[in-house]
Amino acid sequence: MVPAGSADSSDSEMVRPPVAVEPVGGGTAESPVPGWVGVVRIATAAAAASDPPASFACRVRWGRLSWYDVRGPRPFVELLWALEELSATLCEVCGAPAVARETWERAVHTLCPRHAVAIAAAGPNASQVYDRGWASLPPQP
Ligand SMILES: [Zn+2]
Repeated sequence: MVPAGSADSSDSEMVRPPVAVEPVGGGTAESPVPGWVGVVRIATAAAAASDPPASFACRVRWGRLSWYDVRGPRPFVELLWALEELSATLCEVCGAPAVARETWERAVHTLCPRHAVAIAAAGPNASQVYDRGWASLPPQP
């Protein structure tokens, strides 16, 4: 029972203040998990529509989307905060309604009942559950 490289609480939030004067292209960050592809797509569309154009990167942290390298006007940054709250209610694997759960390696993941069971059953092979989530996504346009 050795936690494999689990992040500890010294990893502080990385959302930086917006820098509105820096010319940057539209954000094209990839979703870190299959269930949040739609959430990241909203952020990508909003980044492209912002004036000036905004950009961001994201990852999973404690069962929700965590944004970093955020650049853009204040309304865009506020949208990202709202989307972070949204991600905390959607399954990381399939996007269904979900709640945060502590998994076997003492990490927090947001999972629907079906995938909470799948992750628990998979144990150290949990990444295969995510792989199946990616495989079940509709083809990208
Ligand atoms: Zn699910």
